[in-house]
Amino acid sequence: MNCPYPDCTRRGLQGNEKRCPQCHRFLTACSHCRELNRAFANHCRKCGQELSRTGFDWQGFKGGPERTGFNPFDRAEGTRDLEEVLHLELDDRCKSLLSCDEHLIAVSANGRIEIIDAATRQRKAGLKTEGPITCEPCVHRGSLYLGSRNRLAAYTLGAITSATGSREPRWEVPISGTPVQALLAIADRLYTTVGYRDGRPQEIQALDGIGGAQPSRPRALITGHRLSAPAGGTEPRRRIVFLSEDSGRLTLNRIDHGDGVNPEVTTLPVPGAPRELKSFVPIAVLRNKVLAVFGDDSKLCAFDAERGAFKTMIQEDVRELALNGPTDGVLLQGGAIFFLYRNRPERLTPDDRISVPPVIVGRRSVYVGMKDGRVRWYDLNNPAVMGEEHLAQRSEEVTALISFANYVAAGGSRGTVRLFRLEGNE
Ligand SMILES: [Zn+2]
Ligand SMILES: [Zn+2]
Repeated sequence: MNCPYPDCTRRGLQGNEKRCPQCHRFLTACSHCRELNRAFANHCRKCGQELSRTGFDWQGFKGGPERTGFNPFDRAEGTRDLEEVLHLELDDRCKSLLSCDEHLIAVSANGRIEIIDAATRQRKAGLKTEGPITCEPCVHRGSLYLGSRNRLAAYTLGAITSATGSREPRWEVPISGTPVQALLAIADRLYTTVGYRDGRPQEIQALDGIGGAQPSRPRALITGHRLSAPAGGTEPRRRIVFLSEDSGRLTLNRIDHGDGVNPEVTTLPVPGAPRELKSFVPIAVLRNKVLAVFGDDSKLCAFDAERGAFKTMIQEDVRELALNGPTDGVLLQGGAIFFLYRNRPERLTPDDRISVPPVIVGRRSVYVGMKDGRVRWYDLNNPAVMGEEHLAQRSEEVTALISFANYVAAGGSRGTVRLFRLEGNE
C-alpha cells in the first residue's frame, strides 16, 4: 500500500502502521478494507466507508458532546512527571484547545488557529479567522466549527493542514445574536446556544447540512429563561439533551438523531426536580443519566434521560465535574476537590484557585489548571498530589486544559500553550 499523502513516495505499507515510516504523518486504517487514509479523512479513499475515530480525541468543550472531561488513555503506573514536547505562543488569550487524529488545535480569543502534529511537532496550519471567538469551538467529522459574534464558520481540517489546500472557511453563515457556551455537532447538525446583548432570553439554535458546502439557515429550537447548553451521547446513540426551566418547572428536551435524517424531539416534564437550574454549569451526559447543578447551594443532581425522572442528588456546592464512569470522577467544590470513588473531599488552600474544568486521564489521574498558572495532577484512586508544572515563568492563568491520546495540553491567558507527553500503555 502507498502512503496516502501525495507528496510522500513511500510504498509497501502493511496497513498496521499508525504513522508512515518515511514522512511520519498520521494514518487511519479503514476497518472494512484496511486501506490507509490521511489524518482528518471522513471516508476511506478506496472503498468509501466512513472511517471510525480513535476515541482518544478531544473534540470539544470538556472533551466532546458528553461533557465529561475524560480521556480514556491509560497511563502507566509509576510515571509521575510530564515531559514537555512543545511550547507555542499565541498572540492572545488561549480560548480553546482541541485535538483530532493526534493533532493539537489551539484557538486564541482573537481568532488565531494553530494546528500542530503532536508526534512530529510539525506546524500544519496557522491562520486567522474572524474574532473574537465567543464560544467553545468543536471538531466533528474532520471539520473545525467556530462561533463569533453574528457568525458561525466551518473549516475543513484536511484542506487547511495540507500544503496546497485552501485556508478559507468551507462555509460561513450569519446568525442572529452571539454564540455562547459551547458548540455541539452531531450527525449532520450543529447546535449552538445564542445570547443577545439586549437582554432577550437565550435560544438554542440548530443548523443542518453542516458537512456540505452550505448548511441551512440557523433556526431557534427553544427559547428559555433558564436554559442549559445541550450535551449529547456518543455514537451510535446520537442523542442530545438540554434542560429548560420556566416558572420553576423543569423540562428535559431530548433530540434523538437515530439515522441522522429526521431527528425526533421529545420533551419530558421533570416533576419533583429542584428549583433554579444553574445554567452556566454545563450539563453532562453519561449513558442514560443527565447531570446538572441546581439552586443556591449548587446541588449536583442526576436525571434519567429516558423518562425525564429526577433520580438522585449527588453533592452540594458543585461548580464543575469530570467523570470517568457513573460513580467515578471528581467534583470541584468551593474549597475542595471531591473524589467520588473515595467519597471524600480533598481540601484546597486559598492559593489553589482552579480556573478550568478538571480533566481525567484513564483510570489513574486527574489534572487541574489554576489561576496562578500551575497545572497539578492527582492520583484518582488515592487522592494525593502527584505533581505540578508551571505554564509559564511569570504567573499566567490557565484558560484551557485538555488531554488526548498520550498527551496533556494547557493554554494560558497570555497565549502560552504547552504540550506534554504522558508515558503509558497504548
Ligand atoms: Zn508518508
Ligand atoms: Zn476502505
